[in-house]
Amino acid sequence: MGIDKPIEIAEDIYWVGHKIENDPFQCHVYLIKNKDESILIDPGSRITYEHTREKIKKLVDLNDIKYFICHHQDPDIVGCMYDILDEIDSKDKYIVTHWRAWALLKHYNWNIQLYEVEKNGWRLKAGDRKLNFIFTPYMHFPGAFCTFDKKNKILFSSDIFGGFTDDFELFSKDVESCFKSIKPFHEHYIPSNVILNYGLDRIQQYSPINLIAPQHGSIIKKEHIEPVIENLRKLKCGLFGDYVDTREIITLSELNTAMNEIINIIAYDENFFKVIDAIMTILGKFYSIDYIRAYVADDDEENIIVMDSEEKHIRLIEDKTKTRNMLNASYYLKNGGVFYNSSSLHNMFNIKESSYTFPIKDKKDKYHGVCFIAFNYNNINDLTSYLEVMSKFEIPVSMAVLNQKHLFNLENKNKKLYEETIKDPLTGLFNRRYLQLISEQEFARAARFKHNLSLIMLDIDDFKNVNDTYGHYAGDNVLRNIASIIKQNIRSIDIPIRYGGEEFLIILPSTNKESAYMIAERIRQAVNKMKVHFDKNEIGCTISGGVSSTEDIPKNVNYMICLCDERLYKAKQNGKNKIVAE
Ligand code: GH3
Ligand code: MG
Ligand code: MG
Repeated sequence: MGIDKPIEIAEDIYWVGHKIENDPFQCHVYLIKNKDESILIDPGSRITYEHTREKIKKLVDLNDIKYFICHHQDPDIVGCMYDILDEIDSKDKYIVTHWRAWALLKHYNWNIQLYEVEKNGWRLKAGDRKLNFIFTPYMHFPGAFCTFDKKNKILFSSDIFGGFTDDFELFSKDVESCFKSIKPFHEHYIPSNVILNYGLDRIQQYSPINLIAPQHGSIIKKEHIEPVIENLRKLKCGLFGDYVDTREIITLSELNTAMNEIINIIAYDENFFKVIDAIMTILGKFYSIDYIRAYVADDDEENIIVMDSEEKHIRLIEDKTKTRNMLNASYYLKNGGVFYNSSSLHNMFNIKESSYTFPIKDKKDKYHGVCFIAFNYNNINDLTSYLEVMSKFEIPVSMAVLNQKHLFNLENKNKKLYEETIKDPLTGLFNRRYLQLISEQEFARAARFKHNLSLIMLDIDDFKNVNDTYGHYAGDNVLRNIASIIKQNIRSIDIPIRYGGEEFLIILPSTNKESAYMIAERIRQAVNKMKVHFDKNEIGCTISGGVSSTEDIPKNVNYMICLCDERLYKAKQNGKNKIVAE
C-alpha cells in the first residue's frame, strides 16, 4: 500500500500521517473530509507535518479545516499547530480539547478559539457529521479522551490501542501481532489495570465499533477489536522497574512479565530449579547465560549446599574451611553484584566462565553464600544494561535459593530424626522397631514377586565371659566389630537388625535358604578370625546362627523368626560356633 498518498479508511475519513524512518513509535493523523467544516484529528508532529500537509491538500483546502481535535497536549499531537496557524485564517476555527489539556495549551498563546468537549456535552456537530467524545481519564493523562464517529462507527482512540511497531503496518494483521504491539505500549503508559478497565468499559458502551484508529501502531480492523480488548483487560500495567541503563520498552515489558512470573513461582512453589529455569528462559531471550550456580552454607555453617541449574539436584560439600571462606567472600561483595572475568572467588569454586557474582543475603542482610550467573561475555553488546538487568534478579534468586536451602535442611533434619528412631546407636544397625515397620512389607513383596526370602539369626557365644573378663566397654567394641563384619558381608538391599543385646537378625530379600546359609557361614568364619584390640588385650569370639526361609514356611514372619531361634538353639547345643539351617 502506497503511503505517500492519503488513505481512505472509511467514507470521507483519511489517514494523512507519514512514516517516520527507524522508529517503532509511529504517529498517525486523520482527516474527516467535511466541506468547510473538515476535522483534523491529532494534527501531529513538526517532523511529519510537511508530508501531512501535502496529503491534506489533496483532499481539502487547509482553510476548510474548522476543528483541530487534540486528544491531549503532547508535542507529537500539537507540534505542527504553529505551522498550521501560520498558514490559515484562524477566525472561526477551533482547537477541540479537554480543559485539562487547554490549561497547558493556552501557554502557547495560539490565536485560535477553544471548543471544550465537556462544556459542549461531549459532542460535536459539524454539518452532517456527529462526533461523540468519550472521557477516558488517567489513561496516560488526566484529561484523556477519545472521539467516536457515529456515522462510520470509528473510534479515534489517540494513545489507547496505540502500539509499538517494528515495521510500519497501517492495518492490524491478526489479533496476536496486534496485541503484541499494544501490550508494551499500555504497560508503559497506563499506570494501572483498574484505570485501563474503566476506560475500556466506557469505550465498549459504543460497541459494535467498526474500526479503531489510534494515534500510534496499527488501525485495528473490526474482527480484531473484541479479542484485543479482552486481552487488554487482563494486562498488568505500569513498568515500575527502576532501570537506568535499560531503555528498550519491549525489553522492559518482558522483564516486567518475567519478574511477575518469577514472583508467582516463588510464592506458590518453593522449588529452586523451577525458579532458575524461569529466569534462564526469560533472560535467555536477551543474553546467553551458561548456568546459574549458588553456594550457601547449611544451618550449622559446616557444609556448603550447591544448587546448579545444570546439575538439577542439590549437592553437599562437607568442608568447614571452605564454608568460612565463602561466607567471608560473600560479605566482601556486600555492595551488590559484581561482574568478574575471573577472581579468587572463581578460583575457589573452580568457575571458569565470566559471571555476574552476587552475595546471597536474607531480608535481615545476613550473608548465606554466593551466586554466579555465568555467561558468554563475547555475546554481550551492552554490559551496563546487562549488569543492571542481572541486579534485578538478585532478590528473586536469593529468595529461591534460601527457600530451597530451608527445605533441604528441613529434609535432612527429618531424615536424621527418622534414622534415630529406626537405628541402634551402638552398632548403627536397624533396631527392632524397624523390624516391626518393614517385616510385613518385605514378606508381602516376596510373595507378590514369588521370590524367596530368608532370615539369619546370630548370637555371640559366651558373650557374658567377654564382659566379665574385659569389661563392658570391651564388650561394646566387640559388638561394633561384629556389626561391621555383618554389614561387609551382605548386600545393600539386605536389612541387618540388632535384635537383642548380642543377637542379630538379618532379613535377606530374594535369597533362598542355601545362599542365606552361605552368607551366615561367611559371617561366622569372619567373626572367628576377628581380633578386637582393647586395652592391650586381643579379644576374639565366635557366633552361632540359625537360618530360616520362605521355603520352610511361606508368608509368616513370626514363625520364621521362631524357626531361626530354634535352629540357633540347636547350634548352641551342638557346641556353638556353628550355623544350623534345618
Ligand atoms: P550364650 O553363648 O549361651 O549365648 O552365652 P552368652 O553369655 O552369650 O549369653 P547370655 O544371654 O547369658 O548373656 C548375654 C550377655 O550379653 C549378657 C549382657 O551383659 C551382654 N550384653 C547384652 N547387651 C550388651 C551390650 O550392649 N553391651 C555389652 N558390653 N554387653 C551386652
Ligand atoms: Mg543371648
Ligand atoms: Mg550369647
